[in-house]
Amino acid sequence: MRSLRSVLEEAQKKGVAVGHFNIGDFVLLKAVFESARELEVPVIVGASEGERKFLGVRQIGAMVQSLREEFNFPIFLNADHTHSLASAIDAAKAGFDAIVFDLSALPFEENVRQTRAAVEELKSINPDILIEGEIGDIGTGSEIHDVAPDLSKGLTSPQEAKQYIDSTGVDVLAPAVGNMHGMLQSMVQGTTKKRLDLARISQIKSATNVLLTLHGASGTDDEDLRSAIDAGINIVHINTELRVAWRRGLEEGLAKHPQEVVPYKILPAAIEAVKQVATSRLKLFNKVK
Ligand SMILES: [Zn+2]
Repeated sequence: MRSLRSVLEEAQKKGVAVGHFNIGDFVLLKAVFESARELEVPVIVGASEGERKFLGVRQIGAMVQSLREEFNFPIFLNADHTHSLASAIDAAKAGFDAIVFDLSALPFEENVRQTRAAVEELKSINPDILIEGEIGDIGTGSEIHDVAPDLSKGLTSPQEAKQYIDSTGVDVLAPAVGNMHGMLQSMVQGTTKKRLDLARISQIKSATNVLLTLHGASGTDDEDLRSAIDAGINIVHINTELRVAWRRGLEEGLAKHPQEVVPYKILPAAIEAVKQVATSRLKLFNKVK
């Protein structure tokens, strides 16, 4: 099986990005996996600390590994937004392919110091694991927000990005470039879209020349996403859009079968709803017509 690094490097050469989707339950995992298999494109599934606590770190590790082995398919597992070394170590030991080590809430120097130490420790557990570091402010919570936070002061500068990469040794950088976790109600309805600072992405890419992840991409303008990938984004995170689809699909499944108690008869509606979102996002990221 190919490594995540080689999959990302190939995506970079082809000018496409690998989709990253958070999975908080088996419905989401099944839907994302089916979408990726039908399109024959590699995919990353992510579990945040909250999602890992719910699913079990070793259990989600074993589930993704079993899909990869049984279907000989490039599905990879990322420990999304990991805020402590202890929880990063748990994920590394459970066979995760990548870890987002997120100390972006700390002052820059402290973020650098602790991230550098974490890179060393985690690579001693698995030399092939990819560590992603984060600087800047893109808000928290992949959910529906009432008001947009002001993230304009937390944008990542190319100089800061270069300094961070040189001094931490992370493999992947998650910059703040106009992206934001979660969505506003107007974005769920589709009346407004997130817009990205495309020039900043290009500048950060040329300053660092590392793999770049775009977090919080739910509700982003399609054309901006295409241009962001052209400017050097290699991984795109979608979470809130899937969660919205999951809830709608589940409600639909329950409404369609008011007397039903068999989960596998109710849940296909949720899987279908999530698949529609995952498939359309994967097509866009992979430039599939
Ligand atoms: Zn994120």
